[in-house]
Amino acid sequence: MVAWETVIGLEVHAQLMTRSKIFSGASTAYGAEANTQACAVDIGLPGVLPVMNRQAALMAARFGLAVGGSVNPVSVFARKNYFYPDLPKGYQISQYEIPVVSGGSLEIHTAAGDKTIRLTRAHLEEDAGKSLHEDFHGMTGIDLNRAGTPLLEIVSEPDLRSPAEAVTYLRKLHSLVRTLEICDGNMQEGSFRCDANISIRPQGETTLGTRTELKNINSFRFVERALHHEIARQITVLEDGGEVVQETRLYDPDRDLTRSMRSKEEAHDYRYFPDPDLPPLVIDAHDLEVLRNELPELPDARLARFIADYRLSMDDALQLNSQKEIADYYEETVSCANDETRLTANWVTGELMSWLNRSDIAITDSPVTPAMLGQLVCRIQDQTISGKIAKEVFEAMWASEGDVDSIITARGLTQITDTGAIEQTVSEVIARFPDQVAQVRAGEDKVIGFLVGQVMKATSGKANPQAVNEILKRQLLG
Ligand code: ADP
Ligand code: MG
Repeated sequence: MVAWETVIGLEVHAQLMTRSKIFSGASTAYGAEANTQACAVDIGLPGVLPVMNRQAALMAARFGLAVGGSVNPVSVFARKNYFYPDLPKGYQISQYEIPVVSGGSLEIHTAAGDKTIRLTRAHLEEDAGKSLHEDFHGMTGIDLNRAGTPLLEIVSEPDLRSPAEAVTYLRKLHSLVRTLEICDGNMQEGSFRCDANISIRPQGETTLGTRTELKNINSFRFVERALHHEIARQITVLEDGGEVVQETRLYDPDRDLTRSMRSKEEAHDYRYFPDPDLPPLVIDAHDLEVLRNELPELPDARLARFIADYRLSMDDALQLNSQKEIADYYEETVSCANDETRLTANWVTGELMSWLNRSDIAITDSPVTPAMLGQLVCRIQDQTISGKIAKEVFEAMWASEGDVDSIITARGLTQITDTGAIEQTVSEVIARFPDQVAQVRAGEDKVIGFLVGQVMKATSGKANPQAVNEILKRQLLG
């Protein structure tokens, strides 16, 4: 039996968040009525000329700086020629020999430690239109609204070694382009989509195997599933004595399999040549200086800051930084709670996340706002309520019953810290459970938990558990 190694390289298309198209003034807004947002330039009518959208170029450069790549002072647009119904010009304007960004890298955290994934390049190009197969019986509809939408194609080196690593890389890239505010990352709308190139080779082999390309996968979950399938398929082909054919395959999420779409074109099939209608794209040192000064805090820096400033574990910090909005929510809650412990992190990664997941609600739409959760943390810290009661308060806030203090008052949840009252209940519990009391006195420490539980039950969870513990120990052991 041969042990196989998986090799994956990803090409990600990130739609840049400009208001108009890359070479025309037409709107890029999503969801308009079909064919109302493609102008003469987008569909290449004779006599029109493309004009570069400067904003798209600066966004690409911003990305280049963030990944430590070189932003080329001069890059060139090229025509990539092919025929397809959603491309009425007969060519796509892209970049070929000199892309706007060369090199760069992305760090990912994997189970086996940190890993650097090298980027080959990032280039600017225009999107094509869309073919619509539904609603047109026996025919295909063409919507050209998307034609000319600016894309940044980000190409990785074949450095990824498993579907899980590929997804980790994709999530990292997703979080980066959103932090940079160059792409909205909306995968359902196709603003962030990926082609996955994959091959296998015997463990220890250094030359690459023949790859296949899985086209246009638009969810993290599908990427992982599609890659797993493709690995299994390639292994079967090779172990049966066959050869992997270099081709483009399509993942069908409904049937959970990949199927061949077409044999893979070679670059020379596209007859690339510099687009004579567009001057070279120039990004000079001054542009870069301005962009560098405007760079926001990047995901890696934020992660490191979470660990240093909030003294979080790597796991918590990673979880909180898995999405910019979660990190924002966390920081706002910490500042409302004025919390210097890990309590806020526990509540965000624990209770809040599980309610959001269960209800399938985005954190930005959470009915419990950072101010509300911050207040809840305060009430735990100042011992008004215990952590357990806090869960009840959280649930009530989730159901829009009001803010923390009004729920505590309305439901009479204030913690009993009056030691006199607790002493009384403890005595009653001791009288009721003589067997367990004897066990504790005989040195069975664990049984004390049972007695604490009984006191908590008798006070409907409102007694301060620490006080209960102390009083019990004092009464039992003197
Ligand atoms: P193309 O222009 O035909 O799409 P590239 O050579 O630019 O091809 O490579 C595209 C992607 O495929 C890159 O992300 C690269 O890392 C990846 N890749 C290239 N060869 C292999 C291979 N043998 N196995 C896995 N991935 C590969
Ligand atoms: Mg490709």
